[in-house]
Amino acid sequence: MTEVEKMLAGELYDYSDPEALELNLQAHERLEKLNTARYRDTQGYRAALRELIPGFPDSSYLITPFHCDFGFRTTVGEGVVINFNCTFLDGGGITIGNHTLIGPNCQLYTPHHPTDYLERRKPIETGKAIRIGDDCWLGGGVIVCPGVTIGNRCIIAAGSVVTRDIPDDSLAAGNPAVVKRKLNAMTNTEKLHTCAEALRRHHFETAVVANTQEAFEKMKSVVEAESPKLVSFGDSMTMRETGIIEWLRNDERFTLLDGFDASMPRPERLEIRRQALMSDLFITGVNALTTAGTLHWLDMVGNRIAPVAFGPRKVILVAGRNKIVDSRDEAEERIRRIAAPQNIARHPGFRTPCAKTGVCMDCNAPDRICNTRMEMLRCHPAGRILVILIDQDLGL
Ligand code: SF4
Repeated sequence: MTEVEKMLAGELYDYSDPEALELNLQAHERLEKLNTARYRDTQGYRAALRELIPGFPDSSYLITPFHCDFGFRTTVGEGVVINFNCTFLDGGGITIGNHTLIGPNCQLYTPHHPTDYLERRKPIETGKAIRIGDDCWLGGGVIVCPGVTIGNRCIIAAGSVVTRDIPDDSLAAGNPAVVKRKLNAMTNTEKLHTCAEALRRHHFETAVVANTQEAFEKMKSVVEAESPKLVSFGDSMTMRETGIIEWLRNDERFTLLDGFDASMPRPERLEIRRQALMSDLFITGVNALTTAGTLHWLDMVGNRIAPVAFGPRKVILVAGRNKIVDSRDEAEERIRRIAAPQNIARHPGFRTPCAKTGVCMDCNAPDRICNTRMEMLRCHPAGRILVILIDQDLGL
């Protein structure tokens, strides 16, 4: 492999190699031509632009002065504007999507040098590609580091330094840039249906209902169809609001294992929760769901999540629309900031920092309620788990 081939493959290469140097010198000559081209001479300006960046579309604009290492390593989509004085170190490849605006003085750096200082004395580097999606806006002075991907429809605030990938539809700012808020958010109802569709693709059975009464009717029909002998449940405010537990308790066709009966001593309650692993049908809630079709819990004892993962032949989960988020990170954030600290308020006597402040301190207290995390990616076997999504804000 030649040094240039290594560069194109994203491998460590010698940038003092004559062939690589020649490409760099060629770029400098083309830059000189472009940076002195007159905009009035449209043909001359466009020719210089395309000589430097092959395939640069007529619908896109680059306002000089401009600086880059190679030019041919940059790909620009339709309707793009690159403002004054941008610097693209593009050995690793830079891709800019359609209708993206790059503010003045933006700097996109793909080269990555060895971290060992002795190695770094050698003329070697690795090019890590930068990808910027469609319809993005990078404010003035944004710096993008090697290997970063910025998703579609993102806004990066002026002066930010982007060191990590930014997901679609994000407004990111700061050094290092972090997502401050989501853009182009779906309505709650759109999220509900997107989540249901994604769960269906992941082999969950799903139902979208308008309220807790409809959720109750759906659960009742499934329970009757399954005709389980032993039914159990994991605690969930949403599930309790549907009234399903009282209905099961009063129906003699079913035996309800209630591991939350406050009249019993705690060891007995825990024993019942253990037996719930062998129940025929198990009902509970979920801490967070993503629009990508994954389910997320954080449990103290684990009695809610263990029977969901394995044991009962049928599992029913209920969740309000407020539990639906866009990503795994947001799911974890929701659990840490909202679900866990609010849940502790339902357990008087638990001594944790959040019980006093309402804020999670990632404690190590013996009463810590955040001990086991579960993320469910697919349902196996298909249809074993029914997820009922309720178009109301419910539970924690
Ligand atoms: S402070 Fe402790 S118990 Fe409270 S939410 Fe954080 S980790 Fe959980």
